[in-house]
Amino acid sequence: MSTVFGLIIQGKLPAEKVFENERILAIKDIHPVAPIHILIMPKKEIPNIQSLEKEDWPLIGEILEVAQKIAEEMGIADGYRLITNNGHDAGQTIFHLHFHLIGGKVLGPMA
Ligand code: 5GP
Repeated sequence: MSTVFGLIIQGKLPAEKVFENERILAIKDIHPVAPIHILIMPKKEIPNIQSLEKEDWPLIGEILEVAQKIAEEMGIADGYRLITNNGHDAGQTIFHLHFHLIGGKVLGPMA
């Protein structure tokens, strides 16, 4: 069954898109924790890092490339955090792989 992000990718739910190609989608987080909070995800339904298979690794490279590009465009190339929560204990709430690109302020230490 599709997650919220699956439905956004299918165009069944709205989102503020900041980047899209055939494989990757980047949207604004609805509850931003910083002035810039973007979610970058593969369109392929992969639950999280731990579910990645060998054939998926190129998608991760492309996500990093998209993160670089968005950071540059949004003027935060000098300081941002790129994180992914893997599993319940890490606080993952949506089980469709996504990376949080967070910046636009001085970020505190990691928890
Ligand atoms: P997680 O906790 O799984 O790492 O991150 C899920 C993120 O998705 C949260 O930061 C939450 O604010 C965001 N989120 C949840 N539902 C929606 C939605 O419908 N649209 C958008 N754009 N973001 C969402």
